[in-house]
Order: sequence, then C-alpha cells, then structure tokens
Amino acid sequence: MVVVSGPGGVGKGTVCAELVARFPDWLWLSRSWTTRERRPGEAEDAYVYVDRDTFEQAIADGGFLEYAEFLDNYYGTPIPDPPPGMDLILEIDVQGARQVVQTTPDALLIFLQAPSAEEQEARLRRRGDPPDKVSQRLAKAAEESNAGAELGAHVIVNVDIGDTVEQMAAYIRSARSTR
Ligand code: 5GP
Repeated sequence: MVVVSGPGGVGKGTVCAELVARFPDWLWLSRSWTTRERRPGEAEDAYVYVDRDTFEQAIADGGFLEYAEFLDNYYGTPIPDPPPGMDLILEIDVQGARQVVQTTPDALLIFLQAPSAEEQEARLRRRGDPPDKVSQRLAKAAEESNAGAELGAHVIVNVDIGDTVEQMAAYIRSARSTR
C-alpha cells in the first residue's frame, strides 16, 4: 500500500493519475468517496459522490479503511480490493495519512510538497472552487505544509509532473524489491 499525501494544491491528484496511467500493469488507484459536490469540469469518476447520510451509513457499516472531514466534507477510502499482485495507491489528505500510519504501519508513505507557496496558491485558485473555499483551502494548505517529516514520509518536491512521477515510480519499485 502506497499513501500519497501532501497539502492541497500540491498536485497530488494529477501526479497520481499520471502515475497509474504510466504503470497500469502494477499500480491500482483507489477511488475515494466524498460528500463534496463535483466541481465544474471535474471527471465524473474522480470520486464516488454521495450525500452525508450515505457516507455516514458506510462509516457505521465499517466500509472505510480511513476517512476524514476536510473543510466540512467527508472523504474516505473504501476497504480496498486491488487485483492480485498490484500495488495499491491511496491519494489522501494528511489526516487520512496519519490514520493509515496507525492501522497499516508497513504502508509506504510519499509526501508531495509544492515548489513554492506562490505556485501552490496559484494551483488552488485555478481549480474552480468558490472564493470562500479557496481561502479556507489556502489556510489549510499552509497548516499542512510541513507534515511530511512528522509522518516519516519520503518527501518529493513537485516541480515537474514527469520528474515527480519518475521519482515516485523509482521509490515504489525499490521498496517492492526489498520487501
Ligand atoms: P479535493 O476536494 O481537492 O478533491 O480533496 C480535498 C482533500 O481530500 C485533498 O487533500 C485530497 O487528497 C483529500 N482526499 C481525497 N480522497 C480522500 C480520501 O479518501 N481520504 C482522505 N482522508 N482524504 C482524501
């Protein structure tokens, strides 16, 4: 299990999508549930979009490996069922990563960091969230920017998507060969 975490606006989603598109034979991306509304232009299958009641019922039924509330919405990883022999990738927030560290201590942790606060802010603003949400996300991102060391994660600064994907694949492959 590979956990890819990091503050908002760092490019986690883009990088993980690119990573599994490049290595579909051995990497499998978990699809999260959320109560957030779909953004304009966001892929229909970016998440499983559900209402709060449905999410809370799934919590009660023990349906999540981890879940967290992030800016008033729930996000959670359904109990994963990857095809045999494939490595599972979770793209989750810092709170979720802290839970996985507790429940799955041998998970491989990767923490992405933005090259600069300015770039991170620009990415958050480009995403199509309403302005009040953008400022909440900026505050949250600032809070979480140094959580990588605390998690004991392998930290990668996401300057160029292609380079980041290469570094992640190399790190996962090397962990695979020694386990
Ligand atoms: P967004 O609303 O930008 O799609 O996601 C907000 C945050 O929730 C991001 O940091 C994203 O990585 C995180 N996230 C997405 N799916 C999950 C999940 O299943 N569990 C947790 N804990 N966080 C998630």
